[in-house]
Amino acid sequence: MANNTPDKISKLPKGWGKLQARTAKALLNIEFSNLEAMIKSLDLEIDRLEAKLSKTNDEAEQALIIKESADRVAEVVARHVMRMRKKARALADESLEAELEELGIDPARTRTSASRADAAAAAAAGLSYASVWASTALSVILQTEEGQPKVRRSLENQDYRLERIAATETSRAFNDEHSRGVDSIADDESNKEKHWFPFIVKRWDAILDRKTCAICRDHDGDIVPLGINFSNDDTPGEVHPNCRCMSTLIPLPAFYTTEAA
Ligand SMILES: [Zn+2]
Repeated sequence: MANNTPDKISKLPKGWGKLQARTAKALLNIEFSNLEAMIKSLDLEIDRLEAKLSKTNDEAEQALIIKESADRVAEVVARHVMRMRKKARALADESLEAELEELGIDPARTRTSASRADAAAAAAAGLSYASVWASTALSVILQTEEGQPKVRRSLENQDYRLERIAATETSRAFNDEHSRGVDSIADDESNKEKHWFPFIVKRWDAILDRKTCAICRDHDGDIVPLGINFSNDDTPGEVHPNCRCMSTLIPLPAFYTTEAA
């Protein structure tokens, strides 16, 4: 079986390309809308921080103000990442259901709950961004001898980090949920006799644009049997921070043709 499996499937069965494109677009929409909201919230925090900092020249006091600000930032980012991950998981459920429906498999048991994992990931993302926030603000303050603190420009330059968090967490949550759903169906006793999985493979789908890195571009279209890792043990969505890849279930064309005929 594995020997006959092609490495890539470039020609898609009818319907799959559309399904994948719709999912990729929805994934990007989650990422962008949350990123925008997150930046708006942090904009307000910059106003607040600059106003407070301008009232004192005492370094210790300024450090404390920055520390408090960083704590709020950690909360803001965590809240947005949490929302992002929830949406991405819901999308993964929806996408997997559509994929299974196309394959004629009962999608009833794909839903999983991973709120604890979401909370942990969100908190970690919030804390790591807050530490960048604090060190950036602090270094600007220490360099400013007189006059108004000018932290806005430096902090706004950190937006790419937020972008990275948004892309990484969205894609990671989607892929976590998707593969968990696939595993749960494969483990389901009622599916064991159906042997539905030998003719289904997972395909690496990269979002191809000028930001796509060489590794992800190379993996795009890779296919492996379920339960087997992609080459180099790479995982879609986790190749690097900002990875926007996802995996999709597809039927092997040979079987698909046989089924359809
Ligand atoms: Zn990628």
